[in-house]
Amino acid sequence: MEIVQVGATVLRQVGRHVDPAEVRTNEFQRLIESMRTTMKEAPGVGLAAPQIGRSLQLAVAEDPPEFIEQQTPDQAALTERDTLPFMVLINPILEPVGDETAEFFEGCLSVDGYRALVLRHRRVHLRWTDATGAEHDREFAGWPARILQHEVDHLHGIVYTDRMLPRSLVTTKSWSEQWAELPIAEVHKALRIDAS
Ligand code: ZN
Repeated sequence: MEIVQVGATVLRQVGRHVDPAEVRTNEFQRLIESMRTTMKEAPGVGLAAPQIGRSLQLAVAEDPPEFIEQQTPDQAALTERDTLPFMVLINPILEPVGDETAEFFEGCLSVDGYRALVLRHRRVHLRWTDATGAEHDREFAGWPARILQHEVDHLHGIVYTDRMLPRSLVTTKSWSEQWAELPIAEVHKALRIDAS
């Protein structure tokens, strides 16, 4: 499936609520499998239905161990990156837990080629329906909480650039060469994020 890029109006719409009866249809199950394949091939750790042109309250997410191993152990510890098993999020409702925040670079498959610093809640509570129609209710922290906030935002027409620190926008190339390993306070200083 083609991943739509910013400029597509579907990325700015609020996704339609999914009827529980719809979840069990072959068509819906095929859609989930296609999204899973598209996410893996991208590769990405999350993909929301609006990103493949479908305005629905549906997203998939997975952060497998082989992705996490590409980071240094220090970086993984700092960002609280932890394995997120494959998840299908239908009609998710997300609420922040506590006041703690975390600020790191993130990117998006629909804003190809860029990263920026985004302040997110460190812990969130999520309620959602899975691919079998079962309901779930639990808390997430650290990087998995960031992935979920990013995906749930997509279902409400929000792209990470709406929430980024504007002066922190960098290309993916520049990020990997210059910014990825730098402490966030140093990034602030070098890009004069707190100026203006
Ligand atoms: Zn995204």
